[in-house]
Amino acid sequence: MTDRMSIGIDLGGTTIKMAIVDRNGNIVDKWGIPTDTSNNGRNISQNIADSIKEKVENRGWKQNDIDGIGIGAPGFINMENGFIYHAVNVGWENYPLKDDLESKTGLKVVVENDANIAALGEMWKGAGKQASDLICITLGTGIGGGIISNGTILHGANGMAGEIGHITSIVEDGAPCNCGKTGCLETIASATGISRIATEGLEENPASMLHKKLNEKGNVSAEDVFTCAAEGDEWANKVIEIITHHLGLAIANMANVINPSRIVIGGGVSRAGDQLMDPLKKVFGQFALPRVQEGSDFAIASLGNDAGVIGSARLLFLKRND
Ligand code: ZN
Repeated sequence: MTDRMSIGIDLGGTTIKMAIVDRNGNIVDKWGIPTDTSNNGRNISQNIADSIKEKVENRGWKQNDIDGIGIGAPGFINMENGFIYHAVNVGWENYPLKDDLESKTGLKVVVENDANIAALGEMWKGAGKQASDLICITLGTGIGGGIISNGTILHGANGMAGEIGHITSIVEDGAPCNCGKTGCLETIASATGISRIATEGLEENPASMLHKKLNEKGNVSAEDVFTCAAEGDEWANKVIEIITHHLGLAIANMANVINPSRIVIGGGVSRAGDQLMDPLKKVFGQFALPRVQEGSDFAIASLGNDAGVIGSARLLFLKRND
C-alpha cells in the first residue's frame, strides 16, 4: 500500500485551514479557503468538498488515496455523531456536519472540538513531545484549552472538558466574561485581559511608558506590556506579575488534578517567551504539589497555526487505530 494521507481541517470563523498530512504527521500540502457564513453556513461543506477534490486531482491522486478527513469545528458538538448543536461564529444550528461532509466528499469524517485539536497537534508533532498526559493552553484573544489524559482527549460528559479559560472567580467580582460569568481566567490572562488590566491601571501609574503607547495608537496591547516591561517599566512588570499569579495558580490547581507530564502554552501571548514563562513557572511551583511539579515541565507551543490541521489529521489515525 502506498503512503496513506489524511486531510486535517481547522475551521475558523473567517478562514478554513486545510492540509494534507501523512501518517507521520508531516504536512504534504496546506492551504486555506474563506469561511462562507452566509446561508447559516450551509455552503461550507460543499466548499470544503470542492477544494479537496481540486487538490487531490491536481496531484494526480484518487479520492481513495485519502484515508479521510479530521475536522476541528467550533461550537457545541456531539462527539459520537459529529452533530453541531450550535456554532455561533459559523451560523450552524442543529447541523449534521459529519453526515453532510461525508456525503459531499465520499470520505470518512471525524469531528472534534477546535480547542482540542491544537492540543492533539502539539502532542503529536510539537512541544507536547508525545506526552500521554498533557495540558495545552492557548492564550489568544480568549483562552482555549485541551487536556489529553492517558493519550486520549478528555471530553467529559457532554464535550465541555478543558474549558480552562472559564475557571472562574479567579477574581471575586471581576470583569465580565463572554460566557456570562465574571472574573474568569480568560478575563485576566488572555491578550484581551492583559490589555484591559494594563489600561485600567494607567491612571494610578502616571509615570508608566504604557501611556505613550496609548497616546500613539489609542490602545495598549499585551505585546506592549511585555515590551515596556523588558525596558524596566514598573507598571508593565506589575501587570505581568498579576497575570502570571492568576494563570500559575489556575494551572497548578489543574495540574494537581490531572498530573500532566507536560504543560504547553501557546497563542499570541506565548510569544513573550521567558518573560511569561519564568514568573509563571515560579508561581506554579508555589502552588503545585511537589510530586506534581517534579513530574511536569512547561513548553511553549511550537507548531503555531499548523497545530490545528496536524491535530485534526491525527484524529483520523487515532480513531482508525482504536
Ligand atoms: Zn468565562
